[in-house]
Amino acid sequence: MEKIRVRFAPSPTGHLHIGGARTALYNWLIARQKKGRFILRIEDTDVERSTEESIRAILEGMKWFGLDWDEGPEKGGDHGPYLQSQRKELYAEAINKLLDEKKAYQCFCTPSELDAKKEKARTNKGQYAYDGTCRDLPKEKLTSSLEDGKPYVIRLKKREDKEIVFKDLIKGEIRIHSDTIDDFIIRRSDGNVVYNFAVVCDDALMKIDHVIRGDDHISNTPKQILLYEALGYDTPFFAHVPMILGEDKTRLSKRHGATSISQYRDDGFLPEALRNYLARLGWGYDDSQEIFSTDDLIKKFSIEKVSKNPAVFNYKKLEWLNGVYIQNLSLEARTEAVIPYLKEAGLIDDKFIRDNPDLLKEIVAVVGDRMKTLKDIVPYSDYFFMEKVQFDEDVKEKIFQKADLADAYQLIAKELEKVKTWDKENIEKELQAISDEVPIKRKDFFQAIRAALTGRLFSPDLTGMMVIMGKEKVLTRITNALNACTKDK
Ligand code: GLU
Repeated sequence: MEKIRVRFAPSPTGHLHIGGARTALYNWLIARQKKGRFILRIEDTDVERSTEESIRAILEGMKWFGLDWDEGPEKGGDHGPYLQSQRKELYAEAINKLLDEKKAYQCFCTPSELDAKKEKARTNKGQYAYDGTCRDLPKEKLTSSLEDGKPYVIRLKKREDKEIVFKDLIKGEIRIHSDTIDDFIIRRSDGNVVYNFAVVCDDALMKIDHVIRGDDHISNTPKQILLYEALGYDTPFFAHVPMILGEDKTRLSKRHGATSISQYRDDGFLPEALRNYLARLGWGYDDSQEIFSTDDLIKKFSIEKVSKNPAVFNYKKLEWLNGVYIQNLSLEARTEAVIPYLKEAGLIDDKFIRDNPDLLKEIVAVVGDRMKTLKDIVPYSDYFFMEKVQFDEDVKEKIFQKADLADAYQLIAKELEKVKTWDKENIEKELQAISDEVPIKRKDFFQAIRAALTGRLFSPDLTGMMVIMGKEKVLTRITNALNACTKDK
């Protein structure tokens, strides 16, 4: 049996969008499940909007997201080139074939003539369709127009009236009468073929047998089917994946938050968590299962179970899922994973890592299961690296200005000074004893120490953190808090 061949065909006009990434993932999962081939093709025919930078961002995004391609840019393959801008000769051949077979024709109608026809259709409240003026031009007229160098487009000569039927693997059977399609343009007057034409040539020549793409392309499919037929190729199976919407049910856009894959990377998401989340978004499987390893997805995914309706992006759920994946990493892997975020925040550098081989691991261990994103390491640990604590505004308002802490801080500094063996057990014992002596609620007492050491109202395990920080730093910070709170009074 032939191996299944699927593709992802992004236009390099921006970053790799979360919706595109999900479409790519669905294609990739099917290819891996069926031991087929996953092809990456860059659709850069729109020269005005396509950029090198965007191609780079897409390739980088795909790599980070873990979707390796079997054929495509950087990789090559038997059906290349994999950039549409390098396939012009193939399109020219296909156009010539259609012209030779009289399945397409040159149209010399000028833009102003066509505009007038469109205007007329509008005033008559009708739908504009090309009227076929140039469909059967007499041979002499055609030759003289070509010789005169008159600009022309090339149109597909639509065949007999018939129903175009295809069974979309997600949306079900779709029927459209060919009456609703006119002799549409396949090559513009500048010599460039249109998207529908390039895509059909490419998919056919690249032997794609399942076209799985966003449903914003579903209205193009009937035209593409006519082109497959005209070019003498078998039509592939189609599956049109519904859009992703924001929580307000409008199409997911920047207004809803991050939409590019690279932004999710920068925000501290793990690719495996994002794969899990995006695969699950709109794919109906047993509702009791949320966590799918990538191997599990490869085993269980099926395009037929993707919902016909748009899926609503739930950032909170993605964050929760990411937290689960972070917790499941080994301490070593989690430490490695947070390093770039600590560096990015300017808290550590390579020298620091070299000089303190175990410290980062200890910090990551004490932060425990609190991180929802890798970037959360920054607010949960920045005070370890800072010379001096910055007190949050709410620490000033809720702690320093509320309770009378001066005596407590003084006592804490005095008693902790005496602790000989600076370990969790001794610190804990000492703090309990001081807490019994001061006229402050136990909860507020510990909150006050947390505030002094971190500048925040939240932190990981207090005594665990104090062990890592070391006695000297703890004492200095308690004294600084004492000064800050007497000043703020
Ligand atoms: N290049 C098109 C896009 O980025 C996709 C075309 C297709 O998948 O058929 O929207």
